[in-house]
Amino acid sequence: MTFQSLGLSRAVLDALAHKNYDTPTPIQLQSIPPLLEGRDLLGIAQTGTGKTAAFMLPSIDRLVKANIRRKPMRCRMLVLAPTRELASQIADSARAYAKYTKLNVATVFGGTPIARNRRDTAAGVDILVATPGRLMDLIEQRCMSLADLEILVLDEADQMLDLGFIHTLRKIVAMLPVDRQSLFFSATMPRDIKELADKFLTDPAEVRVTPVSSTAERVEQYVTFINQAEKQALLTLFFQKNDVERALVFTRTKHGADRVVKLLATNGIAANAIHGNKSQPQREKALAAFRAGTVKILVATDIAARGIDVPGVSHVLNFELPNVAEQYVHRIGRTARAGKDGIAYAFCADDERAYLRGIEKLTRQSIPVVPLPENFQAESERIRNSRVGPIPAERPDRPRQEQGPRRPRATHAAKPAGDARARPGGQQRRGGRPGGGGRGGPQRAGGQR
Ligand code: AMP
Repeated sequence: MTFQSLGLSRAVLDALAHKNYDTPTPIQLQSIPPLLEGRDLLGIAQTGTGKTAAFMLPSIDRLVKANIRRKPMRCRMLVLAPTRELASQIADSARAYAKYTKLNVATVFGGTPIARNRRDTAAGVDILVATPGRLMDLIEQRCMSLADLEILVLDEADQMLDLGFIHTLRKIVAMLPVDRQSLFFSATMPRDIKELADKFLTDPAEVRVTPVSSTAERVEQYVTFINQAEKQALLTLFFQKNDVERALVFTRTKHGADRVVKLLATNGIAANAIHGNKSQPQREKALAAFRAGTVKILVATDIAARGIDVPGVSHVLNFELPNVAEQYVHRIGRTARAGKDGIAYAFCADDERAYLRGIEKLTRQSIPVVPLPENFQAESERIRNSRVGPIPAERPDRPRQEQGPRRPRATHAAKPAGDARARPGGQQRRGGRPGGGGRGGPQRAGGQR
């Protein structure tokens, strides 16, 4: 099957040729024909499956064919996404796919001046990509109306619900014209999401690709049991011993992410943090450096990382395990994108073992355990002694939006191995596993100076 045979227009096919896409992904194959017919769609798919093009390409064709002029302060197609990063990524894709059309694309999300949003949308927008909160602000200021909307896309609906957008979504839907095409995407389909979808959609075509468990199957996964207080030393050791192409490190809290970055820096390892307390320019800068490969380590909380599509993420390190098992699958899905392989490690403290069991149940896999390296205590001592600069103090997070359950405060002081060595006597491992000297041997990840 080719894009031509799916019935897409010349303008869209030229844009795809420009992007060097020659074969449609499964979700594109399944979604494009019913969407071109104007049907509603319920898609169960994650980012990384080619879902953005699946909804954008036929929508662009329909907008062009309908040939309706955009009107001031109105939009023709609205894509709602949970986070700024995802919204700006979708808008970039939309611009690329609509390159050979006259359609315009605008974004509206928090963290940018609302005056700029007003200016960008004043003359009317064909494709508007927005986060729900900021869109609502614009609507309430009477600077945007959805009365003429032709196509609505709700992307990552499960995450929108997790973020508490449900009331805003209901308000937005109440403003939409009845005669519209609606698309609804979610990585998972628990009952509350299904109920929401039923409200949005009329006789939708249903498309389901890569169930949660199969993404996990493509990623090589390991877990190391370790005390919370020793995780930083293991992480530093990991980056000192392994040559990573790009690594995403996940923490549960925003301050946790900052602390990891600062402690890595005291050992001469460059990393950036991305989370909800960072300003929009800081987030964009961190993402750009990660994308360009100038800073190869990005430390993220789940909310900020959702939907990040950066090619070449070789490792995902779960510095802390998520308390929601699906989140683990989203995290490790940041690697192994576009058919590539990836490696994911989890650093699992005693009080996280229940989360690990939940993850193994969801993915129907048992994650192989990698013991701590035999010389871990000595290495950990060396790392502590070689630190330069002040050690950042630990402080609890507030507000609790980006964190899981509270845990006892970890101390920074060295502790004897004791129960941390859940699997004592571990040998050095290949392939960039924790503490091992794989992928280029005992050298630092690039871009650390
Ligand atoms: P998405 O699931 O929309 O986040 O897309 C994941 C990645 O796959 C993005 O980098 C897209 O640019 C890329 N992609 C989407 N469709 C195709 C295709 N048919 N061929 C090659 N790459 C694609």
